[in-house]
Amino acid sequence: MRLSLLKTRFIGQLILFIMISWFLFNFLLNRQSNIMHRYFIEKPASYNLERAERLASSIYQSFRQEVSSPVLSDIRPFVTKYNDIPFLSVNFVYQDDDGLMHSVLDDVEEINILSAEYVYPINFGTKEIGTLLIYDINKEYKRGLEEYSHMMNVTRLFFAILLLLLLSIMLFREYNNIIEHQKRVAEYQAVHDGLTGLYSHQYFKGHLAKEISRSERYKHPVSLIMCDVDNFKNFNDTYGHLAGDKALKTVSNIISGNVRSFDIVGRYGGEEFAMLIIESGIEEAESISKRLKSLTEQAIEIANRIKSEVEQTQIKVEGKYVGVTLSMGVSSYNGEPNYNPETLINQADQALYRSKENGRNRTTVYDADKKDFREIAS
Ligand code: GH3
Ligand code: MG
Ligand code: MG
Repeated sequence: MRLSLLKTRFIGQLILFIMISWFLFNFLLNRQSNIMHRYFIEKPASYNLERAERLASSIYQSFRQEVSSPVLSDIRPFVTKYNDIPFLSVNFVYQDDDGLMHSVLDDVEEINILSAEYVYPINFGTKEIGTLLIYDINKEYKRGLEEYSHMMNVTRLFFAILLLLLLSIMLFREYNNIIEHQKRVAEYQAVHDGLTGLYSHQYFKGHLAKEISRSERYKHPVSLIMCDVDNFKNFNDTYGHLAGDKALKTVSNIISGNVRSFDIVGRYGGEEFAMLIIESGIEEAESISKRLKSLTEQAIEIANRIKSEVEQTQIKVEGKYVGVTLSMGVSSYNGEPNYNPETLINQADQALYRSKENGRNRTTVYDADKKDFREIAS
């Protein structure tokens, strides 16, 4: 629920970012286009083809009238004068004795007769002295604009593809994150109990079997504490199932707070918890029987601490304070070979059963040496 809300917000932000980018990008392109129009296209606003033709023709007529002799010093000022009009450009070209082409204008780098729209051969008497070339510059501008707008469209397309790519990468990454998260949640849920967050029954038993075989290999004793909430059916019937859940959470918190970080705690049944108490590793020098005894003592201590803390804890239910008690059973394993993990569970279970039988809210230990049960005074 929260995840999908985050996802929606992320996609919304992404789309907003892309829309703003797209808007900004187009704004800049359009501004550039406006500048191009204003300074290069709108300048010869009075242009039309008919007018260009008429103007070209009248320039030719003027040439005939104004240039009285076929010398460069006459032709050049004429050409220069008519070059400064809105949409035509004028040139005069001639051939020298070696047949090379020349322009009367110094700044013309390349003479291109074919691209001139208007071409007037100029004769003086019977001799052709050169050619008056008139170019329609406006046509060039228009071609330029076409190329420019084509370039703009390509740029737009490129940018749109880039944004789409970005969007897909981000969405793909987000999708992967969500899948990863869901995978982690599923993995967690497979191993943990939903109400208390402790290991599930199945996972605990798997862990127990592994610890037993480790214990067998390295001769490390382990102890098991089983505990069960007393008269919990009654509690549920009196205060309701929700209050029951709250009590179970309280009990599981107390259990977690009293074991060491390397011990393993599971919710074994509805209102039944199990703890595997493992050697801390500093007892190496002692004999196995001494270490078993010492670990069992540690387990009993832990069990009693949990039992008394639960007994003293008040749980608030509908404004009233109520409490629960626990019955505990402890059993231990010394690392002997060919041991069945179920044996350890059965012995702890039987010890727990004794605690129930003897009046609940107590701890019973199964003594493997004496093959007997011993109640612990708390
Ligand atoms: P005893 O002292 O002999 O253990 O008695 P008990 O009433 O605790 O034992 P019993 O097995 O008769 O009842 C266990 C009750 O625990 C019954 C069931 O409704 C309750 N229970 C099991 N799981 C949950 C749970 O997740 N939430 C709540 N609220 N109750 C649960
Ligand atoms: Mg019970
Ligand atoms: Mg029970």
